[in-house]
Amino acid sequence: MVGIPGVGKTTLLSKMVEILKNHERNVYMISYGTLMFEVAQENGLTDRDQLRKLPVSKQQHFQKIAAEKITGHDEEIIIIDTHAFINSPEGYYPGLPEYVLKIIKPTNFVSVSAQPEEIYNRRMKDDTRNRDKITLANIKKELNVQSGMISACAVITGAPVRHVLNHEGKVDEAAAKIISAIGL
Ligand code: ATP
Ligand code: MG
Repeated sequence: MVGIPGVGKTTLLSKMVEILKNHERNVYMISYGTLMFEVAQENGLTDRDQLRKLPVSKQQHFQKIAAEKITGHDEEIIIIDTHAFINSPEGYYPGLPEYVLKIIKPTNFVSVSAQPEEIYNRRMKDDTRNRDKITLANIKKELNVQSGMISACAVITGAPVRHVLNHEGKVDEAAAKIISAIGL
């Protein structure tokens, strides 16, 4: 599952896991960012929001180790909370490049969007994170980049992409829609 920061991935995923667990499904949710940060911490990094500012080659190294850690899981359903791209000083780099896709072999992609204004407000009210400069124009641009990146993932893997809108106050509906759309 991909989506730009503040679109509501983690909120949506927590709801999906709750629904699936109520149906006695063996589901595991992984935050790719958290996993990468754990790998980076083992290599001396202390601030999560510094991760995306490291040289891309360094991030790619941690990204690959994180992908290999994911393959150690054997739950029935594994949902990965991640980004289609990361906004680094060198430019947008893919969250799911070919070498990661070959390791994790995803069966489905879910691309989460929301209205740019909703994303803006969600980012503004979350003060636990050290976010990049937030403008509406930039959010619109990021939604476009997301769409291109996830289409490329579909072409590389052959797996389908489901686009979902996480409307304001409608997390339950969006979660149920994703579950039924991907046949869980
Ligand atoms: P990041 O990539 O930074 O981890 P995220 O996509 O996981 O971001 P969340 O942390 O899930 O985003 O959500 C960001 C904020 O938006 C939170 O305050 C959350 O409560 C709120 N939010 C998420 N979905 C909705 C919704 N459908 N309606 C209203 N608020 C929402
Ligand atoms: Mg999140």
